[in-house]
Amino acid sequence: MTTWEPVIGLEVHAELATRTKLFCACPTEFGAEPNTLVCPRCLGMPGTLPVLNKQALEFAIRAGLAFDCQIAEHIVFERKNYFYPDLSKGYQISQLSQAVATGGQVNIVTDDGNEKQIHITQIQLEEEAGKSIHGGATIREATFTLEDFNRCGIPLIEIISEPEMHSVEEAKAYLEKLKTVLLYIGVSDCKMEEGSLRCDVNISLREAGSDRLGRRAEIKNLNSFRAVVNVLEYEIQRQTELLNSGGTVARETRTWDEGRGESFSMRSKEEAHDYRFFPEPDLAPVEPGQAWIAEIKATLPELPDIKRRRYVEEYGLPLYDAELISGNREMADFFDKTLQYYKDPKAISNWLMGEVSRLNNQAETGFDKLRFSPQQLGELLAMIDNGQISTKIAKTVLEEMFASGTAPASIVEARGLMQISDQGALETMINSLVDANPGPAEDYRNGRDKALGFFVGQIMKETKGRANPVLVTDLLKEAILGKK
Ligand SMILES: [Zn+2]
Repeated sequence: MTTWEPVIGLEVHAELATRTKLFCACPTEFGAEPNTLVCPRCLGMPGTLPVLNKQALEFAIRAGLAFDCQIAEHIVFERKNYFYPDLSKGYQISQLSQAVATGGQVNIVTDDGNEKQIHITQIQLEEEAGKSIHGGATIREATFTLEDFNRCGIPLIEIISEPEMHSVEEAKAYLEKLKTVLLYIGVSDCKMEEGSLRCDVNISLREAGSDRLGRRAEIKNLNSFRAVVNVLEYEIQRQTELLNSGGTVARETRTWDEGRGESFSMRSKEEAHDYRFFPEPDLAPVEPGQAWIAEIKATLPELPDIKRRRYVEEYGLPLYDAELISGNREMADFFDKTLQYYKDPKAISNWLMGEVSRLNNQAETGFDKLRFSPQQLGELLAMIDNGQISTKIAKTVLEEMFASGTAPASIVEARGLMQISDQGALETMINSLVDANPGPAEDYRNGRDKALGFFVGQIMKETKGRANPVLVTDLLKEAILGKK
């Protein structure tokens, strides 16, 4: 039996976070009453002329630079002509031959822990079409369709990858990394549930080891990572069965029915020439100029790949920690700032990935909304190192910091949580405990180490967890073995 290898390419559409649309001054906000955020220009009324939104072009260039692309010196907009009810203009202003950015790559970490580059074909700037609202559970079952043109003309970038992904996991890692970088550079809010990040999938199979590409199917408009994963798994199976039974894969566009977990043929695949692309006559080509590009480049933040490498090389963090923290800009910011007040990177990483993330998840909030400051987290960790509180008590203190934003020292003071390291006081307590429990003491002397845990537990209970555990253990051993 032939072994088939998937060949996957992704086209990601990311709406840009500009305040106004790409060619007019209508607002881009989400969720307004249908057909209230429109004007003659974005509806494509005869006689209106588009004016390019400079912020949108800047965001597209910014994305190109973040993915290491070449920025075009001469940017041309083109008309993509097609008829569809959600496109009142009858054409979309897009880009084909001279897009904003070409080349570049997305770096992913594969399951075996290696880095892999997925190359980008191009990043093009274009306008959204409107939104069709189908009166039915699915587009195939709809009995009527309503049109909302509010989305017409919202700027988006389409990021087209080379077909270089060969597993569902690689495709997922690519999407996650792409989203992380777009969020880092602030060009899109990437809210998949609001449709500001959507994905078209191209997938074909070929004989493992072959260089020849098989015929591919394209599945459009997926709006969750889960849908992308489901589609890929489904298509790999569908195409494998087709090819194994001697059939061929049709070159076509398919639609995904998430409810049924199946893809359906929509139409045979259209080619670029079907759209009669031609240069947009109402927009002059744009030459951004090296100076402006350099200016945009200078405002890029430290990107996740560079951050991850820095965390490993400079701070000695394990790759797992570095990948996880650098993958979330707010978490990475908090980590970087805490390091200004407390010098143990691994301890900070443990607390952020552990307790703080747990509290965030419970409260369904994020690192950018924490009530306590990086400095306060640093103070808390220093109190553990200084023996003022135990790790266990620190977790209790953190919970209160999380809820109220109160400084750790004030919480410890107000609630009397200071660790007991007073040897005399502990010795008195320990001696009477050992006297009262000769049995377990005898067990310990006979080599049953677990018996010591009983005594430690009792002292912790009596001091409400405030006794210094290291000191308690030492004193207990002394007390029990000394009474032999
Ligand atoms: Zn408008």
